[in-house]
Amino acid sequence: MEIKVVKTDSPKAKPTDETKLGFGHVFTDHMFVMNYDTGEGWHDARIVPYGEISLSPAAMCLHYGQEIFEGLKAYRTADGTVQLFRPDENFKRMNTSAERMVIPQIDEEFMLKALKQLISMEKDWVPHTDGASLYIRPFIFATDPYVGVRPADHYLFIIILSPSGAYYSTGLNPVKIYVEQNYVRAVRGGTGFAKTAANYAISLKGQAEAHDQDYEQVLWLDGVEQKYVEEVGSMNIFFVIDGEVITPQLTGSVLPGITRKSSIEICRKRGYKVTERRISIQEIADAYDAGKLDEVFGTGTAAVISPVGHLKWGDKIMTINDNKIGPISQMLYDTMTGIQWGKIPDEFGWIVKID
Ligand SMILES: *Cc1c(COP(=O)(O)O)cnc(C)c1O
Repeated sequence: MEIKVVKTDSPKAKPTDETKLGFGHVFTDHMFVMNYDTGEGWHDARIVPYGEISLSPAAMCLHYGQEIFEGLKAYRTADGTVQLFRPDENFKRMNTSAERMVIPQIDEEFMLKALKQLISMEKDWVPHTDGASLYIRPFIFATDPYVGVRPADHYLFIIILSPSGAYYSTGLNPVKIYVEQNYVRAVRGGTGFAKTAANYAISLKGQAEAHDQDYEQVLWLDGVEQKYVEEVGSMNIFFVIDGEVITPQLTGSVLPGITRKSSIEICRKRGYKVTERRISIQEIADAYDAGKLDEVFGTGTAAVISPVGHLKWGDKIMTINDNKIGPISQMLYDTMTGIQWGKIPDEFGWIVKID
């Protein structure tokens, strides 16, 4: 499929102060768009000026939430190279999400090609400040003007780009999270493993209550017994107990994070014992009481590694590693950000450069 290009005739001014970018507010000059229609497949791939889209008020995505998305970043290295971190994994996961949400499959190789072309056009928008990056948001949603429940016949696939500031502007500060005991995020047979809007809509209430109590995030338990740890807001979770790295196994209700997968691969290569298994919140509290809970950290594209300093479960408050980042968390952060910003060799072959 050919990609038609329509350049903007009114390019926007680039942000002058990259330290004030924040996250998700600023968008570049162009976006990638393609359409799907049953019978025709994906067609009309195009790069067009970033701008509003028009939809029928009956568009199915607005009523029944048939939508999926991805999130990744482009990084600028010291020599000016712009590069991506494991983008093939994002498009692969997008197809897994699509399958669950009855959205048509995409051609992963074509999508990577289209993304590279889009970023190549928007290269100057990739921030130059250390830690800042270009956030990439591919998404697909149903557009049929029909207020009935069924999988749609018409979809839009869009990629927008947003220059974003450094996640940690004041150092890697550990976060405060609590174990959510009222709400659940995902259930057996549900959509927990898919990157779909519904999983976020369902999490907002718990998240809002956590914020009211001055907590940054909630730690979700399994939706069946509410005993086993699953993940945090938009991050997977890891525990270091007595030197062993443990993370919940992927049972269908946990999002298979690419940072999670990369963390496991790095730890194994560095000789740590890593176990993916069910782990109960009781086991974590017991490890804490025994003085064996060495580290707790979240993993995700936005923060890469987010150390947890304060974990609350009911009345029990656990302060982890003196509320400081632990050695394994630090090693993972340094390795992944080092590879992403081209500061250390890409020993795993994870980097895809933009020409
Ligand atoms: C995206 C996401 C993650 C992290 O995935 P990465 O690929 O590491 O960015 C974790 N949990 C949820 C619910 C997510 O949506």
